[in-house]
Amino acid sequence: MEALSDIGYTNFRAEIRAFLEESLTDDMREAGRLNTNPFPDLKQVIAWQKARHRRGWAAPSWPREYGGPGWDEIQQTIFREEACKLDAPGEHVQSLMMCGPCLIGHGSQEQKDYYLPRILSAEHVWCQGYSEPESGSDLASLKTTAVPDGDDYIVNGAKIWTSDAHRATHMFCLVRTSNEGRPQQGITFLLIDMKTPGITVKPIINLAGVHEQNTVFFDDVRVPQRNRVGDENHGWTVAKYLLEFERGTQCLAPVLRKRLENIKKSAASECNAYGSRLLDDPAFRRKWAKMRIELHVLDSYEQQIIVMVAAGNCPGMSAPVVKNMGMELLQNFDKLAIEAAGLHTLVSQPEALEPGNSVARIGPDYALTPTPRYLSNRGLTIASGTSEVQRGIIAKSVLGL
Ligand SMILES: Cc1cc2nc3c(=O)[nH]c(=O)nc-3n(C[C@H](O)[C@H](O)[C@H](O)COP(=O)(O)OP(=O)(O)OC[C@H]3O[C@@H](n4cnc5c(N)ncnc54)[C@H](O)[C@@H]3O)c2cc1C
Repeated sequence: MEALSDIGYTNFRAEIRAFLEESLTDDMREAGRLNTNPFPDLKQVIAWQKARHRRGWAAPSWPREYGGPGWDEIQQTIFREEACKLDAPGEHVQSLMMCGPCLIGHGSQEQKDYYLPRILSAEHVWCQGYSEPESGSDLASLKTTAVPDGDDYIVNGAKIWTSDAHRATHMFCLVRTSNEGRPQQGITFLLIDMKTPGITVKPIINLAGVHEQNTVFFDDVRVPQRNRVGDENHGWTVAKYLLEFERGTQCLAPVLRKRLENIKKSAASECNAYGSRLLDDPAFRRKWAKMRIELHVLDSYEQQIIVMVAAGNCPGMSAPVVKNMGMELLQNFDKLAIEAAGLHTLVSQPEALEPGNSVARIGPDYALTPTPRYLSNRGLTIASGTSEVQRGIIAKSVLGL
């Protein structure tokens, strides 16, 4: 039986299912199934994006005039639900949910014409150069400088925690162009080609032993002034606009719905301390039910944001609320998944998570991913603004405290 929201969309769901079954290769599905990181295997993410692009569906939330499918909120949700059911590898967040919407909102016509088609086709893959070694929560204190020189800027400084910088072709980046007035008033938003001479990328290995983040050094990097988004010294407005999309449009509910079912399946195969089926244990059932209720709340919230964005608005102050709700719930799912998969989750076997591997696995398949996921996802209540800072924003801007 379809959900109530499906009334009038039965044919659409069938069309999506047929497309997914035809386009998702075994490799893509394996990468989706084995993925334990917020930033999944880029090769398969790109292959999946190219397959969608051929059908005009690369960016489910983009308006039709910019190359998106122009789907309403229910169509977007159906697409993401069906994609999750078949273990699709996910969408490239920095390109499709951050840089693209930001250029649609603040880019010049020339920038839209040049960059948006290349984002859709995955020719360009983006990373985010906001945080610096001394500027994270206090982002406005950033020190990387851009000094005008003819038609260019000369950029010097360093960015840190830059996810995907080692694989990205481009970076959207905040730089300091003035020290006058409030710190926010001297910031400019630039688009930088990662092949430009003077850029060095050094890896940071995370808690799970995975390379996702980097430090990026700029040493006299020449960036054309035409790559500036918005006016000089007005980058803070552009940066905040992008952050609303980053924090508000992650659409975690379909992913978590699938994970909730997987947790139930593992608990049906594992035992509690008394030797009975874990799934029949009242304490476990209570936790599972609590997750289900919280997922329902998250889903409702995400739906509201999808409606707002589909109507041409940005997420606004819903962004910090849904960001905290989603990331904290995700981490609680990680803990429950470990409990449901039992002692087998203690075995570290990273080679068994490589797509295409043929290593003999120790323990059941469902025990492979929970611990590496738990370790990788710990950073998600820090990334894109810590939970504490989001609570501060909610207290000030939503509750007026
Ligand atoms: C997995 C991951 C991926 C990331 N990817 C990127 C990326 O791609 N691009 C990018 O630019 N950055 C990225 N970041 C960086 C991220 O945005 C920063 O780590 C984050 O903003 C926090 O900054 P910080 O690390 O300097 O911590 P700090 O700002 O030094 O914070 C330290 C502690 O103090 C608390 N604190 C600070 N200020 C306040 C306050 N006003 N009120 C209450 N508590 C406060 C914080 O909550 C935290 O607990 C990533 C981080 C992680 C973990």
